[in-house]
Amino acid sequence: AGRKDGKIRMRRYVTATEAPETVQEALKRPSQRSTEKIMGIVNPIIENIRTKGDAALLEYTHKFEKATSVTTPVLKAPFPDSLMQLPPETIEAIDVSYENIRRFHAAQKEEKPLLVETMPGVVCSRFARAIERVGLYVPGGTAVLPSTALMLGVPAMVAGCKKIVIASPPRADGSLTPEIVYVAHKVGAESIVLAGGAQAVAAMAYGTESVSKVDKILGPGNQFVTAAKMIVSNDTSAGVSIDMPAGPSEVLVVADKTANPAFVASDLLSQAEHGVDSQVICIAVDLNEDQLAAIENELDKQANALPRVDIVRGAIEHSITLVTKDIDEAMALSNAYAPEHLILQIEGAEDVVSMVQNAGSVFIGSWTPESVGDYSAGVNHSLPTYGYAKQYSGVNLASYVKHITSSNLTKEGLRNVGPAVMQMAKVEELEAHRRAVSLRLAAMDEEK
Ligand code: NAD
Repeated sequence: AGRKDGKIRMRRYVTATEAPETVQEALKRPSQRSTEKIMGIVNPIIENIRTKGDAALLEYTHKFEKATSVTTPVLKAPFPDSLMQLPPETIEAIDVSYENIRRFHAAQKEEKPLLVETMPGVVCSRFARAIERVGLYVPGGTAVLPSTALMLGVPAMVAGCKKIVIASPPRADGSLTPEIVYVAHKVGAESIVLAGGAQAVAAMAYGTESVSKVDKILGPGNQFVTAAKMIVSNDTSAGVSIDMPAGPSEVLVVADKTANPAFVASDLLSQAEHGVDSQVICIAVDLNEDQLAAIENELDKQANALPRVDIVRGAIEHSITLVTKDIDEAMALSNAYAPEHLILQIEGAEDVVSMVQNAGSVFIGSWTPESVGDYSAGVNHSLPTYGYAKQYSGVNLASYVKHITSSNLTKEGLRNVGPAVMQMAKVEELEAHRRAVSLRLAAMDEEK
């Protein structure tokens, strides 16, 4: 499909007439910038934070955020009201979103420990504990992202994390986005770190004079943030874990002839406006030329009316429409792609959910635009990208929880399981292991 007419249009492939390799190639994510180069920038930043602490953190905030008026890198709770002055309609929107996210994540709580008697007298148990200290990265840059603060902060609060640290780059005048301060207040954050990028990640991983060290770092961010998360989580001396690898946002819309072309176009565009590296895919199930043209015309018309039309143009450059013969083929392609967001604008959409194997979050039917999940429905918007939906879950309550197991044996229990343990220890030639059981069995015999 040509774009010589200047229209904003996705390349179109009809799977019945294309080689499978061509379709696979078209479904590839746009390649990301060389990680080696990024590592070369990020490693020295991390090292500087480790060795020079707050002084280095401030230096980077002055350099990257141009916020030279910032002289203390951390704002501790309670946060002053003057820093969260917002119009009532914004407060209302944040409060509604907060409550829905809280309800959905509270329902994910495990009420009781798991308890199983595997043999008479051998009781195994598993119980959950919230990770004590979490660091939440809320991207700054140009956008205001209170939704990300909600998506990361509310489950941390619901899980019962004792210390919630939020890091976000300040604006050039040194101030924090009031929406983020308001969310930090609502979720009971201990502090806000006024820093961004690799330096903010390193400060939370190792701690500085004023930044609290955390046990896990969660949150999206640009390539510097992502690289820093990978590096600190690989450093055993930091003792910190991360949520998941992050890449540019993406959506896959499956549409059949019952789909409203204007709705389909608006969903594709709501991801395309995220960034030039975003990718959007439309799988058209058995649509004819007129129906395809209707979607394409809507896309062009709506895109040109958007304030971020230039970003959209960039994203659409590497976005495609695939025309398939039926829903089975459409879902097979979608599962192979493993989209971050999957939108089903098809007849009987609810019944097709059983065919979804790989996706971050699914939006079912024509009245469920993906933006409801980005903000206010209750589901989380921190989701696996770049095909990682094949093995990762999005952020959820379990992201803030770990499990501890316990065993509790009676004398009878040890008699029952002891012989197996001793034989296993013998096979592995671990004599102390074997004796830990045999000594006890002998003691039982003596008691008699
Ligand atoms: P950011 O907060 O991720 O990064 C800003 C920081 O980048 C700065 O503080 C600075 O320290 C660092 N930086 C910039 N240029 C640098 C350089 N040359 N060398 C070293 N460090 C440098 O904000 P952003 O850049 O606006 O990116 C936000 C990202 O988060 C986007 O990629 C967006 O798609 C993503 N995002 C994803 C989700 C999601 O849920 N998937 C949500 C929101 C945002």
